Amino acid sequence: MTVASLTENSAEAVTSRLATQLLGARYLGLRPGYSTAQHARFLADTAPHALLIESELLASGEELAGLVPSVLGLGTDEPGPDVLDLAEDEPDTPIAPAAAPGNLATVTCTGGSTGTPKVVCCSYANADAYLRVARRMYGAAPWRFLVGMPVSDLGGEIAQWTFAVGGTAVLWAEEFSATDTLTALRRERISHLFVAPPMLRPLAEEAASSGEEVPALRQVIYGGQPIPEAHVRTAVASFGGKLIQNYGQQEAGFISVLTGADHVAGNRQVLRSVGRPAPEVEIELREADGAAAGGEAGEIWVRSPMVMPGYWNDPEHTAAVLRDGWLRTGDLGKLREDGYLQVVDRLADMIMLNGTNVYSAQIEQALAEHPAIRDAAVVGVPDEVTGEAIYAAVTVVHEDSPPSGAEIREHVIRMLGPLHAPAHLRFFPQLPVTGRSKPDKKALRERAATDLAEQTASNRRSKHAGN
Ligand code: AMP
Repeated sequence: MTVASLTENSAEAVTSRLATQLLGARYLGLRPGYSTAQHARFLADTAPHALLIESELLASGEELAGLVPSVLGLGTDEPGPDVLDLAEDEPDTPIAPAAAPGNLATVTCTGGSTGTPKVVCCSYANADAYLRVARRMYGAAPWRFLVGMPVSDLGGEIAQWTFAVGGTAVLWAEEFSATDTLTALRRERISHLFVAPPMLRPLAEEAASSGEEVPALRQVIYGGQPIPEAHVRTAVASFGGKLIQNYGQQEAGFISVLTGADHVAGNRQVLRSVGRPAPEVEIELREADGAAAGGEAGEIWVRSPMVMPGYWNDPEHTAAVLRDGWLRTGDLGKLREDGYLQVVDRLADMIMLNGTNVYSAQIEQALAEHPAIRDAAVVGVPDEVTGEAIYAAVTVVHEDSPPSGAEIREHVIRMLGPLHAPAHLRFFPQLPVTGRSKPDKKALRERAATDLAEQTASNRRSKHAGN
């Protein structure tokens, strides 16, 4: 049985997730960040038996109610009976967990930022392995974990690991703010915090400028998307050896870890890496045909007890990524002799320029090193002469005094050489992100295509007018 939930970061959301799994059902977390149309598609793909909707999300939830056989409110009796009221009538006797290790604990819809959205299955055996590995990476119990990631997603996992080690999960339901997060860290005596990479630098800057201690804090964990080395260095200045970076993937679970000691060792190559294999994880670099990579870079393949059993109802995509117990990640990596792994790019984001591979992530790193640039995202766009051309979207620190395009190009050329200079450079107020708050390269490609088509049309018009 699958139970879908549309909730915010509330205590009821955490307990209903646990209750779903205690009954041996599959939990499908719908993220508030997705549109109703996307949720409707996920529901069509996974056909859940029940949908739980929290009162704050009723507006979007009501449209979904007709798509699922049974709809329950969570803390509300709309658009179906309140599951909390129904629970009042149940006896207090403990319920024995009904799931077997091979059953599915969660089905999670991926953002599909590089292709078609897929539904990743995670078994109870996988979930068990996540917990073992998290325990080894995040240190001794008890934890007081500030959970700001959505409970429908990683936040729910983190809350459950925290309970499993006898700790306390403090739920954060507001938008991210560096000042408020620091206040909460002090007030709640938080020991552990997980932040998405875009939040790390503002948090580190705020910690440095406030100058106040956060004595209970033991670990600041970040990961889930590439982070510029410049941002990591800023974070090291504030949080030092408390930092932990994880590289992972919905399909693979944890893949690698950059430890606190790695962060303070002061080695640039290590800071540019995503660390060494996480506990219980084997990593290999391979060619497209699955043979060991001949050159220095290759696709990252992973084997571990966290690797998913497959995509939901999708043998074709499953067979494309799972082979002999190994999972191909779709990431291109380099592995140093001492075991440190560098994620070079998503293979799908690599740009082919005049027959040469150019890595979008490398250009994003270089752009982020420019002091006037806040964030950058780079994609390849079709080009009649070079095959593909580099399209860079940047946001700047001070919108009223942005650097010139020429200055930014010069900076990239100085760092990486002329091949990497963006042919198209655009200033964006904000970069497009997916419902999981990650850079949305698919959306950026679409915007780039529209932008360039408009530019061509306007060039044609002015040529016409000039004739
Ligand atoms: P998702 O499955 O949505 O969690 O996205 C996983 C992808 O995000 C990976 O395959 C990588 O491309 C990227 N990723 C995750 N963590 C990191 C990291 N620490 N550094 C670089 N890329 C990362």
